[in-house]
Amino acid sequence: MSKSGGNGDRCECIYLDHNATTPVAPQVLEEMLPYFSQKYGNPSSVHAIGRQAKAGLREARARVAALLNVTPEEIIFTGAGTESINLALKGTLFPALLGACGSGAGSNGRAHVITTTVEHHAVSHTLDYLSAFGVEATYLPVDQYGMADPGEVRRAIRPHTKLISIMHANNEVGTIQPVAEIATLAAEYGIPFHIDGVQALGKIPVDLSRLSCTFYSMSAHKIYGPKGVGALFIREGHQLSAIQQGGSQEHGLRAGTENTPGIVGFGKACQLAGERLAVDMERYHRLRTTLLGLLDEVDSVRLNGHPERTLPNTVNLAFAHVDAMTLMLNLSLKGICVSTGSACSVGSLKPSHVLLAMGLNEETAYSSLRFSLGRSNTPEHLEHVADEVKRLVRKLRLVSEARTVGVCGPDCPCYFR
Ligand code: PLP
Repeated sequence: MSKSGGNGDRCECIYLDHNATTPVAPQVLEEMLPYFSQKYGNPSSVHAIGRQAKAGLREARARVAALLNVTPEEIIFTGAGTESINLALKGTLFPALLGACGSGAGSNGRAHVITTTVEHHAVSHTLDYLSAFGVEATYLPVDQYGMADPGEVRRAIRPHTKLISIMHANNEVGTIQPVAEIATLAAEYGIPFHIDGVQALGKIPVDLSRLSCTFYSMSAHKIYGPKGVGALFIREGHQLSAIQQGGSQEHGLRAGTENTPGIVGFGKACQLAGERLAVDMERYHRLRTTLLGLLDEVDSVRLNGHPERTLPNTVNLAFAHVDAMTLMLNLSLKGICVSTGSACSVGSLKPSHVLLAMGLNEETAYSSLRFSLGRSNTPEHLEHVADEVKRLVRKLRLVSEARTVGVCGPDCPCYFR
């Protein structure tokens, strides 16, 4: 069976970790290449080579804006999704602290932010950092599917609430948050609403002319664009402070010479994502159903995440009495790449904060594995993956049983090769 995909993906493995990152699409790479050594000018230079680079930025901005159905002037390019999130959070909350009493950063000004317990560390660790400056945060609980309740958002609002920051779709379990309801609520109270859209963009429709958020964070490498490039949508008329100082690039909000090849690649990735969105969604939905059907044959397996309000490419399953890290490493030896949680948590021995927030106990969290589908995956891949998972789950369960009861006989793991 060929393990490579039909999109120039030359990996020899079956890659099911697209929520961690995606390969750069060939059309994206092709569009980026001239900007390294031919159209290499500084976009701020007024000579011909500089103007070429500036034209590349202009086109990329228009393409990102088109995917969101907003104007190009509302897009600020950043270095990755994390930086976009930092800009939205710090750029809103630092001035709020200062504005409260008009003095320096160490003032006693009050700023409160509402978020959830299932956010990516790009949000939660930034808020941890901001708490040292006096920012107060309310972390809303989620239900068993990882879903936040807009009613809880309303109840958490205080007179000094300066920002609501909630993700569009969860990176680990795929649950899609009720962002439209929360946006309406935020607008009612006049509170800026930031959405971490890193996992949603390119996987589900995102129309910001209908979704009335203030800020929307994105990342190129989740949608077949290059790593280290992101963008922040800032709705026209909303103010934000820069968090790094230097030149006046990106309307003075992101100083530093632009990563022109990366930005051009992001623009192309957005154009492709828009063109293929309906087809990709339908395909992922079918593949997801296939994978769930195949793995349903495994005993004592449960789906983590919402059964319907979910990213079409994400499946997170708990295999009772199996250590997911061991399962993941064994699958890797067989050329199958999956994940035990967010890539940023790898190396951490802590169970996933997302799964714990959904009410799973530690044992179930440690037995959970994420499969995230992408353009190169086929039904044939999934049948092979399911066969390997079934075989390994059976083996690992016998190992854990043997550890408990100390069996040795035909069912003992020592009989396996
Ligand atoms: N937000 C979410 C939901 C993510 O999944 C990620 C990355 O995994 C990020 C933010 C950070 O994006 P980046 O890797 O571009 O910094």
